[in-house]
Amino acid sequence: MIDLRSDTLTQPTQRMREAIYEATVGDDVYGEDPTINRLEELAADMLGKENALFVTSGTQGNQLAVLSYCSPGDEIIVESESHIFFYEGAAISALAGVQPRTINGIKGEMNPSDVRNAIRSQDIHFPDTSLICIENTHNRSGGSIVSSDNMRAIYKIAQQASIPVHIDGARLFNAAVASDKQVQEYTQYCDSVQVCLSKGLGSPVGSLIAGNKEFIKRARKWRKRLGGGMRQAGFLAASGIISLTEMVERLSEDHEKASRLADAIEDIGGLSLLNRPDTNIVIVNIEETKKSNEEFLNDLKKEGVLAVSFGEGLIRLTTHYDVSSQDIDQAITALKRII
Ligand SMILES: *Cc1c(COP(=O)(O)O)cnc(C)c1O
Repeated sequence: MIDLRSDTLTQPTQRMREAIYEATVGDDVYGEDPTINRLEELAADMLGKENALFVTSGTQGNQLAVLSYCSPGDEIIVESESHIFFYEGAAISALAGVQPRTINGIKGEMNPSDVRNAIRSQDIHFPDTSLICIENTHNRSGGSIVSSDNMRAIYKIAQQASIPVHIDGARLFNAAVASDKQVQEYTQYCDSVQVCLSKGLGSPVGSLIAGNKEFIKRARKWRKRLGGGMRQAGFLAASGIISLTEMVERLSEDHEKASRLADAIEDIGGLSLLNRPDTNIVIVNIEETKKSNEEFLNDLKKEGVLAVSFGEGLIRLTTHYDVSSQDIDQAITALKRII
């Protein structure tokens, strides 16, 4: 099977398995796991923040940011198709007790003046706006890159209003590599950031959040409250170190594969692209084929290719390092055959 459902499906590399086997570990709740400490220092350094924290998942990282910055009854500004709003089971409301104010973006980019207008003024009727979230790359727009110009403009507005900005950067390294920029080009325009180790970077488990000392201190406490205080988790961190030091630059290979897949799809009658992919996600509009998503995905599966439904008439194909160049050729053949 050629599995294009998600870049979370990657298996740990040989180097990761070796690093996990050899890791020196301790009790991280006591702050005594040297491998966790090394990963957190490395991440803070790469992301240009004072401190970092290893967390169980991207969702937990995002939620820790909301919990650390907000109080129940607050409002947070999010893009209307963002992961935090769309895919986290309303955790912002269930856990932090905040309500979302959604803004429709274009390929994930919110118009800065829409953000400015959404910030609440002081009024007894209103909730307080306590956080602005930006997702980069933007998953539901097909891994599109939110430009550093857009981020700078939003960050400036946020600073004027004394509201923190959090980046859901599950795939921020994809944005940096695809735009040939340092990741700090993006993280300079936020107060906190979450990056996933278990997507294109290939680790089996984990994400990191980074921000200033005070933020990480609060987030660490929230992580403990949520049951995310792990003990000899250095085994996971050992893999995370490989992700950050050896798996970032190679993301360009995934982008190249997605681009080649997209080129071919544009030439197949009946299929069209939601957007040209900026990174490793290809969203295909299948409406003209008159097949339901389920039928289309089943037909594709019979040809040995797995993809996922991404809303009415849309399917998502994601490239990652366990998909070879030959696999892409085969996936293209499969798509042609089922049309
Ligand atoms: C995958 C993803 C997350 C959540 O990560 P998990 O580790 O699956 O919880 C958050 N934001 C975005 C944009 C994602 O793509």
